[in-house]
Amino acid sequence: MVYLDNAATTLPKPRAVVDVMRRAVTEFAANPGRGGHELSRRSGDALYCARQTAAEFFGAQIPENVIFTPGCTYSINYVLKGLLRPGDHVVISDLEHNAVVRPLHKLCQYGVSVTRAHVCEDDPELTLRCFSQAIRRTTRLVFCTHASNVTGVRLPIEEIAAMCASRGIPMGVDGAQSAGVLPLALDGQAVDYICVPGHKGLYGAAGTGALIMRDSSPFGTVIEGGTGSASSLRDQPEDYPDRLESGTVNLPGILAMKAGIEFVTGKGRENIARHEYALAQMAYDGLQKIKGVTLYTRRPTPDGHVPLIPFNVGDLASEDAGRMLSERGIAVRAGYHCAYDAHVCIGTAGRGAVRVCPSAFSHPSDIDALLRAVRQISIN
Ligand code: PMP
Repeated sequence: MVYLDNAATTLPKPRAVVDVMRRAVTEFAANPGRGGHELSRRSGDALYCARQTAAEFFGAQIPENVIFTPGCTYSINYVLKGLLRPGDHVVISDLEHNAVVRPLHKLCQYGVSVTRAHVCEDDPELTLRCFSQAIRRTTRLVFCTHASNVTGVRLPIEEIAAMCASRGIPMGVDGAQSAGVLPLALDGQAVDYICVPGHKGLYGAAGTGALIMRDSSPFGTVIEGGTGSASSLRDQPEDYPDRLESGTVNLPGILAMKAGIEFVTGKGRENIARHEYALAQMAYDGLQKIKGVTLYTRRPTPDGHVPLIPFNVGDLASEDAGRMLSERGIAVRAGYHCAYDAHVCIGTAGRGAVRVCPSAFSHPSDIDALLRAVRQISIN
């Protein structure tokens, strides 16, 4: 199978990621910080090392400002539900994933209000103006995706963050499609919260992610429970990471995420990105030449996009096109990609789109195979 569904999760995973998960389960993944025995101590040390690696990669001041989570969705929920209170207003973009839209929809039932700023693919300055104009006296947070998982369009997060900082408003970023591909770090950007999955551009395992915080903000908790610390207290500890990491952490997954980050830094994030943009451009150029294919964005470039492409074939429903491609050995994602609002923006609300996204492991021959298969289904 030619796998081009890397925007959903990257596949395959690097060898080191697979190895460390196997070793963690077979050799030493005891419960970290939950007992004085040797294996628990080793697990605690390994967990701390993973925190250090993620802190360095995302420019956190201290490892304790990295919270490991079961995925980007959880990280986003922790930020939105941890910070927003009745009466608060939040600004998001009109390209957000349901990981942002649905928690906010729920919070709106408790008196939070939301404004969606328009993202303009061709005009980042206009996007910035839309964000700036959406801010009100009660705006407590600006939160947006770094790049759309449907269109690949990149938001000017540095500029939005600087604007927020000048107005004293915290800014959070959903880095689901950008972590490991675009520069995303607290020490280079005025962003306050970065939410990432471990299993996409960081090449870790499914069910992992992180929230990286600029400082120890007074977060309300969404989940309370055992932390291995301050056990005599009924209240959730105030200190991080314990405040937001209740229960036994997914140590094999966290170590896989560490190995994935090391894979990215070892290869060079820029080198991986260059490779992926070249393949995405090759796919775009090829798709553009196939009669009946509709493309919805400009040719992906590092300045404007992450390397993924939405398209449709003739009058086919996107799911049908996806199924026909699967029958021809090509794995892509079709439908709404959990981001219906983005489909409304590009005019595909009635049918969704097919999405292709290469990874560090993709080859030009994968794109050739995709184009061959699209040519076949566009004729039938
Ligand atoms: N935000 C965006 C933009 C995404 O593409 C995704 C994954 N589809 C998520 C959030 C959620 O990530 P996870 O599956 O790791 O919770």
